[in-house]
Amino acid sequence: MRLGYHVSTAQRMDLAFDRALALGCNTMQIFLSNPRGWEIKEISKEIKEAFLAKSESKRVSPVIAHMPYLPNLSSTNNSTYSKSIENLNKTLMLCSELNVEYLVTHLGSHLGKGSDIGINNVINAINKAEISDDVTLLLENTSGSKNSVGSTLEELVKIREGTEKKIGFCLDTCHLYAAGYDITKKEVLEEIDKKLGFKDVHIFHLNDSKFQLGSHLDRHENIGMGYIGREGFSKFFSYRKILDKPFIMETPQESKEELLLVKQLSGNH
Ligand SMILES: [Zn+2]
Ligand SMILES: [Zn+2]
Repeated sequence: MRLGYHVSTAQRMDLAFDRALALGCNTMQIFLSNPRGWEIKEISKEIKEAFLAKSESKRVSPVIAHMPYLPNLSSTNNSTYSKSIENLNKTLMLCSELNVEYLVTHLGSHLGKGSDIGINNVINAINKAEISDDVTLLLENTSGSKNSVGSTLEELVKIREGTEKKIGFCLDTCHLYAAGYDITKKEVLEEIDKKLGFKDVHIFHLNDSKFQLGSHLDRHENIGMGYIGREGFSKFFSYRKILDKPFIMETPQESKEELLLVKQLSGNH
């Protein structure tokens, strides 16, 4: 099983590998720049080389990057929108330079202008993105908070159909649940497979939900401690088709115990 956490790149980006290994991860997710800023700082040659050397060993693989939070690919504000596309392109380039296979992006907010406009903006942004062959851009589903784009399977499918680029998806279990998809039920997982197709889902974000089904609130909880719960995750994992995907946890408190719990819950079938 490929299982890891979102880990910190503080001090030196390459230390993320050491942090992931210390927790017992064999895959990880990182930010390539300040998640709450626009600026993408130059990474020194020395750190890039150290990062690539650690990546080469394949002990932590795949490496997944997550876009910072400020870019909004749905934005109806021209300056934010063009800054967002520029940030996406720079981050994609950095992924390629650092041998990072996947880049996960949120789809942003249409700021009250309606989901059709938001979806069109996302499609247009993806079509403008310079995606090299060695990086796959993954669209992440959202919990469906006000004005957000990408909380329903239908919206995700529309975006895939609209773009000429080859993209994939990253599904977050907390966001699915909060958006009203009860992933503890086989028929819901079958619906996701039928509409979206698990073959295009390259990564799962594995998070429990602090709030109930359909709450539309994006608040992660540790695995087994939220509304999905141990039994819920055990049922989720009994859907074998998903088990070969890498799972990344973004839970409030990372621990080896949590990693072990997930392994148990996924192996109990
Ligand atoms: Zn995310
Ligand atoms: Zn979330």
